Amino acid sequence: MAAALKGLVVDLLKPGVLDVVLKDRLARLVPAIARIEHLAHHDPLTDLPNRTLLADRMRQAIAQAQRAERRVAVLFVDLDHFKHINDSLGHAVGDHVLIEVSRRIVANVRASDTVARLSGDEFVVLLPEPGGIEGVVRVVAGLTSAIAEPLQIDANRIRMSASIGVSLFPKDGSDGSTLLTNADLAMYHAKAAGRSTYRFFSPEMDAQARARLRTETELREALVRSELLVFYQPQVDSRTGQTIGHEALLRWSHPRRGLLCPDAFLGVAEETGLIVPIGQCVLRQACAQCSTWRARGYRGSISVNLSARQFGQDDLLDNVKKALDDARLPGNFLVLELTESLLVEPTGASMKLLHDLRSLGVRIAVDDFGSGYSSLSYLKRCPINSLKIAQPFVEDIGVEPEDRAIARAIVSLARAMHLQTLAEGVEQAGQVQALRDIGVDSLQGYYFGRAVPAAELRLSCESDPAS
Ligand code: C2E
Ligand code: CA
Ligand code: CA
Repeated sequence: MAAALKGLVVDLLKPGVLDVVLKDRLARLVPAIARIEHLAHHDPLTDLPNRTLLADRMRQAIAQAQRAERRVAVLFVDLDHFKHINDSLGHAVGDHVLIEVSRRIVANVRASDTVARLSGDEFVVLLPEPGGIEGVVRVVAGLTSAIAEPLQIDANRIRMSASIGVSLFPKDGSDGSTLLTNADLAMYHAKAAGRSTYRFFSPEMDAQARARLRTETELREALVRSELLVFYQPQVDSRTGQTIGHEALLRWSHPRRGLLCPDAFLGVAEETGLIVPIGQCVLRQACAQCSTWRARGYRGSISVNLSARQFGQDDLLDNVKKALDDARLPGNFLVLELTESLLVEPTGASMKLLHDLRSLGVRIAVDDFGSGYSSLSYLKRCPINSLKIAQPFVEDIGVEPEDRAIARAIVSLARAMHLQTLAEGVEQAGQVQALRDIGVDSLQGYYFGRAVPAAELRLSCESDPAS
């Protein structure tokens, strides 16, 4: 548009086309048009080329590289934890950081390279003549250390780092868009490897990304087609051996791959947020199942796992209430299992949520206790009821004195805090004996039964742990 306008003005300015006055007024428009043209191709904050101009430069670079049989390198640079800066220090400081980072990137590449800003904290560096792989690595290392230099903005001394993904023409793609997608994918792998590092794209990354996408698509269908099932694993009283509850564990009856355990798809469900409707579906099924059992005399509890994503939902309390109401299940039959990471730094909102859940009668268990955090102060602050001792401590409890010492310490800690204990992953009689000796309240594991569909469970209906 700006270019067409410019062409028109240039034509009109040719001798003999217009009279002098009009020519003069038109000539004054030229810088304004140039400015519009510049804005159309540059990012207003950093004045770096934008996505459109980058695409243009990539096209040129690829055409030239093709003729000269050269490589082109595309570097996808993403700042680590930039959101944190915006959130904690404000957008003005965030903008400052972006401008400074853009200057540093530009200062560390050649004038013939292109540095573009795609959005937020995402930059792309196009190297039309990178030379060998070592040349690319040298540029990446230069950028990494330039970005890592501490940055002083007003009273704030800020340390930044970046994750960088690299793709190469012609190996990783024959057009700009593919090269950009693959560099982006490689960048995600750098993030996953702990950030502040770089990764070159590899075809396996693409295969992984496709597999994830396929899982996501199929998982959406699974929800609609009721392929997601809930299995139940018994929990028993360590002294009497009576069943005191069941943990609801998710399974996916996949049309091609058969019965899948959560580790095959939970990661994708978490990332995509699908865990929210899936978790809701598990909660409703589990409450309904427990209610059915109750009608047959069962007095045990039902435990349901909650992921971080679900715990962060505003309507969790309402959903729990509704699941209990719809199933006509009293709240004290439901146990929600949360991981330690959710409790270590509870916000005001999550603390209120825990108390609201407790006021429904729902109990809170800390899942995989002892596997993640050293800080225990949350035990005092959070309204929790029980600790599930993580399987690694149970595994060698019969043979390793250290594991026994840890389990014993957890039990005495729990007693002092008036919390129940449950050991999970119990597989052998020796473990049962050791855990019983230590005084663990209840046990769960293959020794007592695997997770199976409700129809395959034989219920003993005498126990009443919810009283
Ligand atoms: P978790 O909550 O720690 O669940 C215990 C896992 O250990 C289950 O694996 C269970 O089948 C397995 N297990 C039980 N007894 C034994 C044993 O004696 N030996 C061994 N080796 N393993 C045992 P599963 O069902 O594959 O679940 C894995 C994880 O997936 C669960 O770990 C939980 O974190 C998550 N998960 C399962 N269902 C749900 C769900 O409905 N929602 C959410 N958010 N997460 C779920
Ligand atoms: Ca659990
Ligand atoms: Ca667990």
